[in-house]
Amino acid sequence: MTPNNTQQNEASTFQSLSLPLPINKALADLKYTQLTTTQTASLPYLLQNKDIAVKAKTGSGKTLAFSISLLTGLLEQADDMGETNTSNKTSIYGLVLCPTRELAQQVAEQIRLLAKHIPNTKVSSFVGGVAIGPQIASLVHTPDIVVGTPGRIMDLIRKGKLKVENVQKLVLDEADRILDMGFSDQMEWILKALPKQRHSMLFSATYGGAIERLTKQYLRQAGIVEVENTE
Ligand code: ADP
Ligand code: MG
Repeated sequence: MTPNNTQQNEASTFQSLSLPLPINKALADLKYTQLTTTQTASLPYLLQNKDIAVKAKTGSGKTLAFSISLLTGLLEQADDMGETNTSNKTSIYGLVLCPTRELAQQVAEQIRLLAKHIPNTKVSSFVGGVAIGPQIASLVHTPDIVVGTPGRIMDLIRKGKLKVENVQKLVLDEADRILDMGFSDQMEWILKALPKQRHSMLFSATYGGAIERLTKQYLRQAGIVEVENTE
């Protein structure tokens, strides 16, 4: 792969990004000040709604990077519509696909922590291996952001319970592991069910043939950011 953005070494602070106040407050609560190298390399794309495929090792702060993009976008959308995100929406705004139940729950928790100062933001996680009934019941109030495993997300969309016609942000987290877990068909089914006009972000610890094909097929003119193992 040919990275079109090499990593930058200068340290950057979250303060310097001019993020919306509620996000800055949450970052301060969480005591995050300096960006990781992966965050420095990927945030320009993430904040300008440019599709991106990021190859970076585990522990490099990818969750926070895409969570900032999801919540910044959600706030901008609420501003544009002249209303808060409590409106009578039917479709979710952001969808995050993860390879495992544990990861989906951790990611949802991290997004909730970052959304702590944004009133009425609903972040739900839907994973397999538990009853679908309560998940369907909870969808009477449409969440803003949904995090889940591909099998269960596909089931919920198919049943007409999870509405995705206005999804504006898609995250494929640990995309290589999603494929390793055998979720390729479910993931592609979901990708085809989403609006074509959207901001897509793919994260992976490896960037082999299958991930490259996925990037070419489902992302639009994606920036490829490869972060070396320096963190
Ligand atoms: P990855 O998804 O790249 O494997 P995570 O997003 O799970 O990594 O982040 C790994 C750890 O680093 C988490 O505990 C997270 O809270 C922490 N972290 C992320 N970004 C920062 C930061 N800018 N400063 C300090 N800690 C951070
Ligand atoms: Mg991760």
